[in-house]
Amino acid sequence: MRTAIIGGGIAGLAAAYELEKARAGGAAVEYTLFEARERLGGSLASEIVNGAVLERGPDSFITEKPAAAELCRELGLGAELTPSNDADRKTYVVVKNRLVPLPDGLMFLVPTKLIPTALTRLFSTKTKIRMALELLHPPRPSGQDESVAALVERHFGAEAVDRLADPLLSGIYGGDATQLSARTVLPRLVEMEAKYGSLTRGMLAAHREMRAKMAARKQGSAGGGGQAAARPAARGIFTTLRGGMQQLVDALEARLEPAWVRRSTPVNRLERVDGGWQVTSGSSDTGSRVEHYDSIIMASPAWAVGALLSGVDTVLSEALTGIPYSSSITINLMYDEMQLGSLPDGFGFLVPASEQRSMLACTFVHRKFLGRTPQGKAVLRAFLGGMNNESLLTEPDEVLVQTVRRELTEILGAGTIGRDAQPEHAQVSRWRRAMAQYAVGHQDRMKLIHARVAALPGLRLAGNAYDGIGIPDCIRLGRQAARELAQSSRTASQQVS
Ligand SMILES: Cc1cc2nc3c(=O)[nH]c(=O)nc-3n(C[C@H](O)[C@H](O)[C@H](O)COP(=O)(O)OP(=O)(O)OC[C@H]3O[C@@H](n4cnc5c(N)ncnc54)[C@H](O)[C@@H]3O)c2cc1C
Repeated sequence: MRTAIIGGGIAGLAAAYELEKARAGGAAVEYTLFEARERLGGSLASEIVNGAVLERGPDSFITEKPAAAELCRELGLGAELTPSNDADRKTYVVVKNRLVPLPDGLMFLVPTKLIPTALTRLFSTKTKIRMALELLHPPRPSGQDESVAALVERHFGAEAVDRLADPLLSGIYGGDATQLSARTVLPRLVEMEAKYGSLTRGMLAAHREMRAKMAARKQGSAGGGGQAAARPAARGIFTTLRGGMQQLVDALEARLEPAWVRRSTPVNRLERVDGGWQVTSGSSDTGSRVEHYDSIIMASPAWAVGALLSGVDTVLSEALTGIPYSSSITINLMYDEMQLGSLPDGFGFLVPASEQRSMLACTFVHRKFLGRTPQGKAVLRAFLGGMNNESLLTEPDEVLVQTVRRELTEILGAGTIGRDAQPEHAQVSRWRRAMAQYAVGHQDRMKLIHARVAALPGLRLAGNAYDGIGIPDCIRLGRQAARELAQSSRTASQQVS
């Protein structure tokens, strides 16, 4: 079986790695990984500058979803896995130019602790009363999909959307709570509303259930042979790689057959031919090539997949191109700590849209992950752009850096970061249409996409547009697509013999 993998981001690399494993295991599998850019990795890109790891794209992955850490361990990167420094985890929200900490007890946007919620400066008294009354919310059957903003506003009011849901989601998705699908992005909350009415009651019940399960598990393992249960390794909410996310890209690339990896080689055209696929690739530099493949893993962004499939299935093509994407900018500023006054504790802050700033969020990188920034240095990473601020992408680097420095001074105070505090290094990265948005109706769109893909033999989709935006989901989908194709090739060859 010959497979073309289109797109060399983390999803395409994971797919190629899985096919390489199948080949090593004796399967009759060949693949070509096509990547339009000069480098592999897509959004994953890090550099080491003066001993500091600077992430241009993602800085970590969520630990709860195992696919990324599992892959790192398989690739021999287990010792490089580094947990977030959760002992110092504290996040602020900017409210009228001041940093207000997120109250203790927030779970998936839901306040679960009475006293911190009552005392926080994040919400007005009116919103706090609304939060208390939320406990009386009657169950509501989950009908039509709706936006995250609509769901959160119904329970906790508009201020909770502005100061909590919107900044948290724009920090993750570069998205807009009024557009994102509640059913896709917050499925647990939708289920809780149907069952309990009140999200706070639902969350507390889920928490109790989880604690009871953990206690039962502990008891079980203590009873088993009388030995003390092995202590799990330290886990943070987020996990990264000591030398940067680029380590994962490099380790994957090192496992692939070099002759089968084609950089700077965009796929420009796809056709169904003789039960297989005709792939036209190349640029004016590399020249054009037309080749036949039995199967295809589409691991480029959905808008690019939609364009390539326009001559194959127009309904599928339109469903794919209809998935919205947001663009973003990351700016790493490295300072000598002596140049900065004392930063507030914690990992950084989120900026609600109502503050009308360019920055959406800022991470204090040297605090979030220890051991990736040299002693005496501080790295501040600003995140800009999102659905409502695409025009920033055309601004020159110097303007963007000046804007971030000015906003940092205004938000953190001139005592912390004065206007003349010069960063030793500034790095600007633009990510155009890189982050898929799960808009209202995403589940219905996906049903249609799955049905159309199933009718096209040998076609698989992987990447952040479908079933999870983060790195672990992209890896899971990439590997799953490759496994399915390798399995169907094995079944076909068994039938022939
Ligand atoms: C700034 C930023 C910060 C993020 N932070 C986090 C985070 O902290 N944690 C987390 O889990 N996730 C994070 N994400 C999300 C996560 O990084 C992405 O969802 C994930 O990396 C997407 O991987 P992918 O392989 O689906 O797509 P991509 O990385 O977009 O890769 C797709 C590849 O396809 C190539 N391509 C496109 N068209 C063609 C063509 N015609 N022919 C050949 N190749 C083509 C592109 O050049 C690209 O390399 C972040 C994303 C961004 C942009």
